[in-house]
Amino acid sequence: MARPYLGNAKSTIEIIQKYPFTFRKRFGQNFLIDSHVLDKIIESSGISKDDFVLEIGPGIGTMTQYLAEAAREVCAVEVDRDLVPILQETLSQWDNVTVLNQDILKTDLPALVQEFNHGMPIQVVANLPYYITTPIIMNLFESGIPLKSITVMVQKEVAMRMQEGPGSKEYGALSLAVQYYAQPQIMAIVPPNCFMPHPKVSSAVIRLDRYGTPPVQVKDEKFFFSLIRAAFNQRRKTLANALRNDPKLGLDKDKIESVLKECGLDPGVRGERLSLEQFAMLSEAFGQFR
Ligand code: SAM
Repeated sequence: MARPYLGNAKSTIEIIQKYPFTFRKRFGQNFLIDSHVLDKIIESSGISKDDFVLEIGPGIGTMTQYLAEAAREVCAVEVDRDLVPILQETLSQWDNVTVLNQDILKTDLPALVQEFNHGMPIQVVANLPYYITTPIIMNLFESGIPLKSITVMVQKEVAMRMQEGPGSKEYGALSLAVQYYAQPQIMAIVPPNCFMPHPKVSSAVIRLDRYGTPPVQVKDEKFFFSLIRAAFNQRRKTLANALRNDPKLGLDKDKIESVLKECGLDPGVRGERLSLEQFAMLSEAFGQFR
């Protein structure tokens, strides 16, 4: 049986030196070199031999080797063409892995799930390129693909933003968007020395368990999210002032304040104090005037 042999500095350097590869900062390339962290990610994801896993950014195939052992099938999407020959070598012992050399943000996710997993629910596991964490996560949710869970390494601050609730300084539009779709849970904090090269920031593994139905019901999701974005675009302002400047709403301050009062909210409240449920309530109340 094949065994993962990457996940340490020595084998990472050895394989990279065999090929004309240089780390590209612009692709967020920080490869994992700690096998304990890799074991922890696999354990946190809860994947089993029944699961199909989409990995985003396999790099030299370090986590892919672990995933190939734990899952039924893995599809790994890597944008950097120079990594393809390396992946061919490092994954040659596993016959349940497909590497696609493409940009995950330009990938037709529903087509991929249809082609590789007959449209059945998938798991996503990745050590994400940090420069595009938010668009990747939002695309996964908004694409409507059937998802069981997403287990990803992200910048620690971003993981905290995804998990926090009202009143915390990390709480914002990303917290609400993630918590509308999934239940977040930080599984581990990972220091910079577990990667090559070391990133400047600490990282965290977060697991997002997709809800069957969202915890709040809104008639118009687009409007709901545009309201949230408007509330946090001008974080220091009161909600009434932030919304007054929102052309999508097109309401004057008096009207906005009266809707806030009708919803049982102080007209001087800031968006950062409101829960997901309160934003859903406001979305329905403001929705009447559109
Ligand atoms: N999974 C590897 C590991 O843990 O060692 C590498 C993780 S590294 C943080 C992020 C990887 O994502 C890199 O291999 C990078 O080339 C790739 N990447 C960056 N942008 C991407 C994109 N738009 N689509 C697919 N992969 C991308």
